[in-house]
Amino acid sequence: MTIKKVLIANRGEIALRIHRACHEMGIKTVAVHSTADTDAMHVRLADEAVCIGPPPAADSYLNIPNIISAAEIAHADAIHPGYGFLSENARFAEIVELHNIIWIGPKPEHIRIMGDKVEAKRTAARLGLPLVPGSDGPVESIAEAKAIAAETGYPVIIKAASGGGGRGMKVVQTEDQLEVLMMQAGSEAKAAFGDATVYIEKYLGNPRHIEFQVFGDGQGQAIHLGERDCSLQRRHQKVLEEAPSPVITPEERDRMGGIVAKAMSDMEYRGAGTIEFLYENDEFYFIEMNTRLQVEHPVTEMITGMDLVREQIRIASGETLSCRQDQIELRGHAIECRINAEDPQTFAPSPGLVKNFVAPGGMHVRVDSGLYGGYRIPPYYDSMIAKLIVYGTTRERCIMRLKRALEEFVVEGVKTTIPLHQKLVKDPEFLAGDYTIKWLENWLAQTDEQG
Ligand code: ADP
Repeated sequence: MTIKKVLIANRGEIALRIHRACHEMGIKTVAVHSTADTDAMHVRLADEAVCIGPPPAADSYLNIPNIISAAEIAHADAIHPGYGFLSENARFAEIVELHNIIWIGPKPEHIRIMGDKVEAKRTAARLGLPLVPGSDGPVESIAEAKAIAAETGYPVIIKAASGGGGRGMKVVQTEDQLEVLMMQAGSEAKAAFGDATVYIEKYLGNPRHIEFQVFGDGQGQAIHLGERDCSLQRRHQKVLEEAPSPVITPEERDRMGGIVAKAMSDMEYRGAGTIEFLYENDEFYFIEMNTRLQVEHPVTEMITGMDLVREQIRIASGETLSCRQDQIELRGHAIECRINAEDPQTFAPSPGLVKNFVAPGGMHVRVDSGLYGGYRIPPYYDSMIAKLIVYGTTRERCIMRLKRALEEFVVEGVKTTIPLHQKLVKDPEFLAGDYTIKWLENWLAQTDEQG
């Protein structure tokens, strides 16, 4: 099954990322785009481009019939979904395969299991992954919720089974708040995800977010590529990620990595995946698995030297994994800053005309971005406009280089979060690697007060 032409069902930096891997493998690309993205970089670079609808994502980047038609018209033999949009839509994966188009992604059944967080936790437990204590399944009544919360102890967190993107979570401090917050969580989940199912977990007070990158060949071979520390979050959304984590020892990495790789092997998982954990008092607690490429995958690429999109394409074409576990060597340190077109203080989106764009360069500096001077950032999509990824032989060197690269970065015409990153990478606690998922929001509140 050689892949000759890939349709990239996405936009922005990730569409470029996939295009680049394809061209380096001698594979042609087909871009799809909304009418708002006619001048986008991913459209310019691809070998062919097909317009799939008007600006709202529901009518274009989520429009399954139009994307399938585009693939057929362009004779694409495979589809790569990137992240977001349709990447974790099991039905889409099935439809792609029914049309005899190669799906560059996991088996649809695995996407479905992991997309339902209750089912995902059950599966994880069966595969031997440690879980956050909480309900065994969906929580259907207030009485049940009370019983579970009493057992795990307060605070607890109510989460939507179909949730994602850090949305739809409610922290409950005491029993008297439970009823109201359960009702709210259910109706918000219904409105946002079309599914009111919720479940309950113990709310961990001060954990880190640590995730493992995995790959499987779909037939029982699986590897892990170490962890990423994604604890620096705002509103449960990642802001800066690093690999390796400043707090995980080689022994813990080998032990936990071994457990996740074994789990993927037992599942006969295919393609790229990320297993997310909260980490507190030296213990890992599974929270979810993402069955796709992650935004932050480049930090893993930097420390392994592997091209993860190339690996995805290889596996989708029926080849074996490109290496064995004992051939993977993690070297040095990498950090990614997510740069958004937002006001760095209020986080209000700042779309519009980019008057000037100069990306930093030099050794071990990578910028993944679809921006260019004269480009108009449309208001319809995610505000992330660039990722700056920097490598160093040690964490200290990586941070020195990151500071230098952030100083060079020029984006004029729109507001960006570059100033926030510039400040963040000078903070003594960040420099010490001493942070948890709570840290960034506290830090933002403090820097806000200081003006
Ligand atoms: P989503 O799919 O919406 O991203 P996750 O389950 O991955 O949801 O959780 C996102 C973030 O929410 C985590 O990185 C963490 O910051 C916070 N979180 C989730 N579950 C818990 C928990 N049990 N205790 C404390 N924080 C949590």
